[in-house]
Amino acid sequence: MLQSKLFTKTRRDDPKDEVAKNAKWLIRGGFIHKELAGVYSYLPLGLRVLNKINAIIREEINQIGGQEVSLTALQNPELWKKTERYGLDVAFKTELKSGGELELGWSHEEPITNIMKSNISSYRDLPAAVYQLQTKFRNEERAKSGIMRGREFLMKDLYSFHADQQDLDAFYECATQAYLSIFRRVGLGDLTYVTFASGGAFSKYSHEFQTLCLAGEDIVYVSRDKKMAVNKEVYNDEVLAELGLTKEELTEEKSVEVGNIFKLGTKYSLPLELEYADLAGEKKPVVMGCYGIGPGRLMGTVVEVMADEKGLVWPEAIAPFNVHLIAIGYKEPAVREATDKLVSKLEKAGKEVLVDDRDAAAGEKFSDADLLGIPTRLVVSPKTIEEGLVEIKDRKTGAVQRISEEEMLSSMEVKKD
Ligand code: ATP
Ligand code: MG
Repeated sequence: MLQSKLFTKTRRDDPKDEVAKNAKWLIRGGFIHKELAGVYSYLPLGLRVLNKINAIIREEINQIGGQEVSLTALQNPELWKKTERYGLDVAFKTELKSGGELELGWSHEEPITNIMKSNISSYRDLPAAVYQLQTKFRNEERAKSGIMRGREFLMKDLYSFHADQQDLDAFYECATQAYLSIFRRVGLGDLTYVTFASGGAFSKYSHEFQTLCLAGEDIVYVSRDKKMAVNKEVYNDEVLAELGLTKEELTEEKSVEVGNIFKLGTKYSLPLELEYADLAGEKKPVVMGCYGIGPGRLMGTVVEVMADEKGLVWPEAIAPFNVHLIAIGYKEPAVREATDKLVSKLEKAGKEVLVDDRDAAAGEKFSDADLLGIPTRLVVSPKTIEEGLVEIKDRKTGAVQRISEEEMLSSMEVKKD
């Protein structure tokens, strides 16, 4: 893609009304637009990142048998009354012209349980796993964390349905592994911990995936050796003894909850009467689990932990483009030809390339490249053409090399794996 065609512009200064680092850099890079506090639109570069995160999530959730759906944002109040979750503070309300109040979905346990009522009747229909990547609305009180805490935000919510606890337990373990794989692939693996958190009526704990990050709103106690953590809300002597942890081996850290999984048991299937007939024909409530990830929060967290003083730094797997090719003097036929040739080679090798073909000063192009954070920067200029070399810079380490085109292409092949 040619950068001259990209309608978004970079900004030199921090937006005045943002305190979160992720929002500052993403707005300056033109990745997102702030509509209101906690309400952000995704622009082309931002959407490319979000879609890459979503694609990784889809792959991992499809792998464990998830089937994708898309449920409505407008909710049937009758279902939420049955589970006593109607009218909570978190919900945005709206009114029908024909009379009556509706809420916008802030989670989807009720509607999905109701949908499954039309589809599950026998033990033969179980297990089932259903997920969506869908917009949630939450009337969050504080919205100062940029895209990490939206009032309107994307969630991947997966719901699983089982005949018994044992089957739920087995799937829950698969989901845990899929989640760890997602966080590893988006580049947060080393910083993300399976964290014991408060459970609810049906299980003692839920499990959060907490990424250590100074901008986080949560506090966790972490054992790096055992690769586990305990949320402050359940951090007490009894829980530590049960988990075989001692206070001495734990350190207190700020963190972001990037995912949360729950064993729901029959919390929703009982009030909403989701039942199945077992082998003997006896009616039993379906046993459920639910599993959430916020792709936008994930993207914001990546920015928080990876951005440096020059701007964004994207991991390869979710970068908006793989290569930022800076063409100095693109108007000159020789530069244009060398650039176009190189782009076609890179694209053949499966690389997505953003070409800075703009008629701007080299310094401005370089600082924009640092701001946008694409992993590999290449420079083509009359000088590099004369030398028969290309300049390659690693955005993360800052290391610059001048190497032959062949060497560069083969080094990029290596990176691909
Ligand atoms: P928090 O405690 O941070 O408010 P939560 O526990 O209410 O989050 P869940 O209901 O568990 O959130 O939602 C599942 C996942 O959705 C979270 O782990 C997080 O990744 C994401 N998420 C939740 N709220 C938001 C939000 N306001 N903006 C962006 N992502 C969110
Ligand atoms: Mg949660």
